[in-house]
Amino acid sequence: MTAPHVFAGSPLNRASQFRKDNAWLDARREDAQSRYLPFYDLRGLIAPGPQPTLAWLPPSAVKLYRMQGGTELFLGLKDGLAHFAIDVSPADASPAARALMGHATTRPGQLTGPAPKADAPFRDEGKFIDVRTIAPQLAGGEAAILAQGRALLDWHARHQFCSVCGTRSKMGDAGYMRQCTNESCKAQHFPRTDPVTIMLAHRGDMCLLGRQARFLPGVYSALAGFVEPGETIEEAVRREVREEAGVRVGKVRYHSTQPWPYPASLMIGCLAEAESEEIAPEEDELEEVRWFSRDEARAMLANWRGTEGNRLPAPMAIAHQITKAWVEGW
Ligand SMILES: [Zn+2]
Repeated sequence: MTAPHVFAGSPLNRASQFRKDNAWLDARREDAQSRYLPFYDLRGLIAPGPQPTLAWLPPSAVKLYRMQGGTELFLGLKDGLAHFAIDVSPADASPAARALMGHATTRPGQLTGPAPKADAPFRDEGKFIDVRTIAPQLAGGEAAILAQGRALLDWHARHQFCSVCGTRSKMGDAGYMRQCTNESCKAQHFPRTDPVTIMLAHRGDMCLLGRQARFLPGVYSALAGFVEPGETIEEAVRREVREEAGVRVGKVRYHSTQPWPYPASLMIGCLAEAESEEIAPEEDELEEVRWFSRDEARAMLANWRGTEGNRLPAPMAIAHQITKAWVEGW
């Protein structure tokens, strides 16, 4: 099953066999052919134009930031060339500083922090734009590269210290690991990916959608929730629908997944066969949850750009895609 998910389909070969090969990495870092994508406050550098693209720069352009110790990640290979991401945020606007100040960009309902300061570098090459804002306009899986860079840089910013002993940790494996610097601990820590189930429960010709109080008026979406430790995907789907709607779910079908770098989720899209209809939420997480007919859902998909009337999220959201799949008889 393939789905046109934004943030999926990276054109890079992650080439993880080179992540521990420091001689190879150093040679690639000095290779004038290698390509660097700068990030400023978790926003990637985008070259504008009718078709915006990632603004890759040669190593010489980011040398200053490399010398200053900007977090640097090996993203992968394409056409034989090494691709890196580098954080060029000033100290007071770095993801780490913002995380410490409580300005993390990922609190519910808050999509982004303040815009980059006027002194953001590389003005001639492009503009630093929030990943989610630009993602739908990028071609060929480029948004997946932004997701990879954003999620990893954010993870490093939030995990500067060992969670076992509290000592400062340092980056390893070209960005895919952190190791505690305490000689008697040396714990290794790896980047997180948090599984989230998102499901369209359906029964006959009806599907179940809900809205959070923070949504714009008229916007409804599929129900969703994190998979908890010791729980299968199917169990998480059934639990979330029961908790948020009071509806009983039987068979669960997996549709597709989507990386969602806010900060590190993997959205697992499912269709869920409901076995009851009465709405009786066990918790008040949602402002409203209700059944919609297939025709209503079809109209809400078509109206995603609208400002009035009921509507579903934009096509870049997996909620849109799994609802579309159900409407079309998947
Ligand atoms: Zn430690």
